[in-house]
Amino acid sequence: MKIEERVEESEGFDAVQHHRLRMLRCLPLSSKSKAFARNIITVEGNMRQNLRREEYLHELIQGLQEAQGCTPEDKTQLDKWEQEIQRRRRDYWTHTREWHQRESLCPPGPLKRGFDAWRATPNWYLHSDLRDYCAARVGCCGRSCGCCERRGEQATDQTRLAVGHCTVERGCCIRDCGFELTVEEKKEYHKAFGVSMDRPNNIFVERIVTLHILGISINE
Ligand SMILES: [Zn+2]
Ligand SMILES: [Zn+2]
Ligand SMILES: [Zn+2]
Repeated sequence: MKIEERVEESEGFDAVQHHRLRMLRCLPLSSKSKAFARNIITVEGNMRQNLRREEYLHELIQGLQEAQGCTPEDKTQLDKWEQEIQRRRRDYWTHTREWHQRESLCPPGPLKRGFDAWRATPNWYLHSDLRDYCAARVGCCGRSCGCCERRGEQATDQTRLAVGHCTVERGCCIRDCGFELTVEEKKEYHKAFGVSMDRPNNIFVERIVTLHILGISINE
């Protein structure tokens, strides 16, 4: 610990996180570390998708309620959306529990210290590389609407674990594209950009993992 403290004091936060990453690469328990990192990011992704979808459903409900004259079909649609919100909330609760369970499996040592330090950083998800990544996926970081920044400011105790960028479930991104992906397309999309354990390790996965878990950009 002493060395880490000295590095942080003299060279700053990024330097100490890089130092921890170098140590991690030398440790034999790296498979446990990888599982921890990928599982945490995957469950956070699921939480974000749920919340973004819920936000969008609220927008749809409000839009329909504000429209003139509610037909019986509208009423049926509203009920469906309300039911989906309840389902999403239940899922979100399950994911929150899963997050804490996954988090408790973080191997003690440089990974745990690095993860805790990075996640204690206010608005960690607004790291410039994560913002570029959001913009590249046509998320709101590429626009001036400010949705991603607001998410951190407006997070509550319940939603704090799901702060982060837009997903394909988000309303303003759907409006910007002019269409919504089908359920199947969304699944494909999340698989393509996900880091779940069934995906082979590659430079993309490593980049996402080090950014989310340690706040380190390995582009340099
Ligand atoms: Zn968006
Ligand atoms: Zn964003
Ligand atoms: Zn937006």
